[in-house]
Amino acid sequence: MRVHGPNGRPRAVERPAEAGGASAGSTAGSRTAAAAPPFVDFRDVWLAYNDELLAQGKFAVEAIDLQVARGEFIAIVGPSGCGKSTFMKLATGLKPPSRGEIRVDGKTVHGPLKISGMAFQSASLLPWRTTLANVMLPLEIVEPFRSELKTKKPEFEARARALLARVGLAGYEDKFPWQLSGGMQQRASICRALIHEPQLLLLDEPFGALDAFTREELWCILRDLQAAQGFNVILVTHDLRESVFLADTIYVMTKSPGRFLMKREVNLPRPRELDITYTPEFGEIVHELRGHIGALKKAGMEISQ
Ligand code: ADP
Repeated sequence: MRVHGPNGRPRAVERPAEAGGASAGSTAGSRTAAAAPPFVDFRDVWLAYNDELLAQGKFAVEAIDLQVARGEFIAIVGPSGCGKSTFMKLATGLKPPSRGEIRVDGKTVHGPLKISGMAFQSASLLPWRTTLANVMLPLEIVEPFRSELKTKKPEFEARARALLARVGLAGYEDKFPWQLSGGMQQRASICRALIHEPQLLLLDEPFGALDAFTREELWCILRDLQAAQGFNVILVTHDLRESVFLADTIYVMTKSPGRFLMKREVNLPRPRELDITYTPEFGEIVHELRGHIGALKKAGMEISQ
């Protein structure tokens, strides 16, 4: 593991017990074949946001080596500003790396990925559109759906209605966002992210603004959608319980420099019910992650003194 040294460059410190390197090759989850090629493959990826920062050697994220198996659910936890959003931009092709290579589904990423869907902490539904029209929005933008929309509209609409029913929003298709609760809006936002059947779903703190009960309901909805459709998920979260409940693998990032420092595979059996969050095994993983994050914070504090 490395932490930020006083000269602004990374310096080596002892790796936390059981950490396992984040660059430790294939991270195949319990449901995926270990020998299969990675679905998401980061090879020594560095990103500086502009030429000036690049010339100064100031990278938002650096030295990312990360392999995600097809169908794997990964969660990324870390402090604000450690580069989680930057990682998302790299994974979806919104930002090209300054160094290194990113492959998704065997192909080098050169621009925005059509096979990805995204949802954020704010549901950001368009207020003048109904729930159904909001969910169908990506089909008006992403090819080949855009060209097919005229001829296949009834089929696409049926798909949107089925997805809404699946997340418990049957009967709310014609409501406007202001007529929905925060949890309902977030369900609709997840449907919008999935309507074009992406292979990769990126979620940036999607449940962060919701109350605890609604959040847990949405965990289960996401769990079920992923189990049924098998897409990959990259979830950014501050909630360690959420990461342990949902993910196959959890990565801890650290700030200054933005690096992946440790990987924790979650071998709890699936399907996971909410009851599992009360078991000692679950609590131990949460506790262990909390311990690592605390140790990283402490290491950072000691270095800056
Ligand atoms: P997180 O999502 O973990 O809060 P970010 O990925 O947003 O972190 O930011 C990582 C680092 O990159 C931070 O130091 C941030 O200030 C910097 N950063 C983010 N966006 C930009 C940008 N557009 N230009 C320059 N620096 C940026």
